Amino acid sequence: MSKQCSKCSKNDAIYMRQYSGEFLCKICFVKSIEYKVKRTISKFSMIKNSDRVAVAVSGGKDSLALLNILKNTLRGIDPVLIAITVDEGIQGYRDESLEIVRNFCSKIGVENRVVSYSELFGLSMDRAMEIRPSEKISSCSICGTLRRRAIDLLSESAGANVIATGHNLDDYVQTFLINLFAGDVERIGWTYPSPVEYGTGGLKKIKPLMEIYEKELVLYAIHTNIPFQTEECPYKDESIRSAFRAHLNNLEKIHPGIKYNAYNSILKIAKRLKEFPANTENTTPTTPNFTDKVNSQEHRKCELCNRDSSNKICSVCRTLNILTKGN
Ligand code: SF4
Ligand code: ZN
Repeated sequence: MSKQCSKCSKNDAIYMRQYSGEFLCKICFVKSIEYKVKRTISKFSMIKNSDRVAVAVSGGKDSLALLNILKNTLRGIDPVLIAITVDEGIQGYRDESLEIVRNFCSKIGVENRVVSYSELFGLSMDRAMEIRPSEKISSCSICGTLRRRAIDLLSESAGANVIATGHNLDDYVQTFLINLFAGDVERIGWTYPSPVEYGTGGLKKIKPLMEIYEKELVLYAIHTNIPFQTEECPYKDESIRSAFRAHLNNLEKIHPGIKYNAYNSILKIAKRLKEFPANTENTTPTTPNFTDKVNSQEHRKCELCNRDSSNKICSVCRTLNILTKGN
């Protein structure tokens, strides 16, 4: 016999949320996801009502779910939403997702703007893979560096002051482990979601899905009839992220809720690291220096493209130089 929903006690449950022990029907499950995202947005003051929010939408489940949730739940705040999409130029893969995004945006009445790597950087991902001087420069590191810049540029040209991305709880925990194992303690502090302004245009980056499990986003997309791309990118590399992902999923199977516990601990660690210097032996609380650091970085400009950079040459210009000149 099927279980009843623990929230409404009316409908049959379609999902058991293992970490809380709840049984949820389709309606209560969808509502619970939308409620959780709304709570995250409010807890970290992510969006206010004068905002123009560029939602980075790739055609995958996370970003389309994010767009749908923002559209459904922010009545009352009513920010302007613009879906921004980056076309990396990967033949046979990206074309399908561009169409999915275009159709979905037109169905829910959100403007969709697209920009390609070829337009911005003079080369597509397909071309970058042909000319990269060594396989040691991984496809996803090239692509990720170019994509972050493309999203910034497209958001600026759309007049947005907030960029929302579809990173979920699993991504957040994996990113922590990647930074931890790389010894990059300072970056852990940067992941704390207080509203930091950065860059020339004062753009703010937010991750409204950071408290939602990846598997619940798949279910949300299915139960709200969101079409999404399932095919994998042909250049996807087996990064350390994939290894952490598999390991965390195994742990979660044995210990339901472990990812959620890890998320809460990481949030506390990230907050401390953001408030206090990460690169000092002295743990005595001093004046919070994260903001100072961001501000001091704001004054540094890349010598080639004149965008904010923590080095003389920014990562995008360095990547393009390696690809086109081999240095
Ligand atoms: Fe780019 Fe890697 Fe994503 Fe493919 S899998 S779109 S190469 S970041
Ligand atoms: Zn540059």
